[in-house]
Amino acid sequence: MRIDLHTHSRVSDGTDTPEELVAAALASRLDVVALTDHDTFDGLASAEAAGRELGISVLGGIEISAQRRGRSVHLLGYRPDRQDPALGEELRRVRAARSGRVPQMLAALAGLGIVVDTEVLARIVGASPSVGRPHLADALVAQGVVADRNEAFARYFDDDGPAFVPRYSIDLPLAIDLVHDAGGVAVLAHPWGRGRRADLPESYIEYLVENHGLDGIEAAHQDHDPATTVELQALAARLGLLATGSSDYHGTGKTGHPLGVHLTAPAVLEELLGRLGN
Ligand code: AMP
Ligand code: ZN
Ligand code: FE
Ligand code: FE
Repeated sequence: MRIDLHTHSRVSDGTDTPEELVAAALASRLDVVALTDHDTFDGLASAEAAGRELGISVLGGIEISAQRRGRSVHLLGYRPDRQDPALGEELRRVRAARSGRVPQMLAALAGLGIVVDTEVLARIVGASPSVGRPHLADALVAQGVVADRNEAFARYFDDDGPAFVPRYSIDLPLAIDLVHDAGGVAVLAHPWGRGRRADLPESYIEYLVENHGLDGIEAAHQDHDPATTVELQALAARLGLLATGSSDYHGTGKTGHPLGVHLTAPAVLEELLGRLGN
């Protein structure tokens, strides 16, 4: 069984439609794929329909923009009730903040002499309800300002970059509680990737398990080197956490993240499904 529990479609900042993503998952010989777009469930119905048509299992999920002490951390929620009012309200707030600061980032870019073509940006955004830095990065790629998203982040959009504008995101313990209250399973995404280890030390992960019932941590991920993955697997074993693995696929939007590059063990998925309250 090949199980990939973290992917993005163009409903957030991937480049495949949900249907294309599911077809690509099948072509990558996956048996189970979770669609976990940033802060929105909008792609799930299409992905599930495609899964039924193509004969591949699609797990409905979400990647929630959360924060600890003002630093961005991501929480994966698996199969929460999509109609849950409290979760829905917080997600609307996050999306509004994410998209709402785009004009400020455009102004910051203009201050640097870079004028983003609004038609180019609109084409890239499409129908996404969750517009963020990756969309602006893609616009700069389309206009030939940078070669790829990585260069756009390195030059302009990283958290200390000249066009970065901070935004509201959900306190991590609250995000976990919201996922649980909606009947879902909560897994910390890439907890020790991209310098996040200092934000999410072992003692804090233990606190989240004891006080908020955190269910799991993503251990195998492109942002973790092999030694870090092994450490996270050991931590998961010690704390009784699910240790997942995933590609964090973004289509052509992120290099080095092909579908299935990291996988979740079948026994872990089985336990995850067993923990679902819905
Ligand atoms: P935002 O939600 O607008 O603050 O943008 C954050 C998103 O940008 C993350 O969820 C990632 O998908 C993406 N991202 C962050 N850093 C990079 C990077 N260096 N290269 C490509 N994508 C990135
Ligand atoms: Zn993303
Ligand atoms: Fe993430
Ligand atoms: Fe992701």
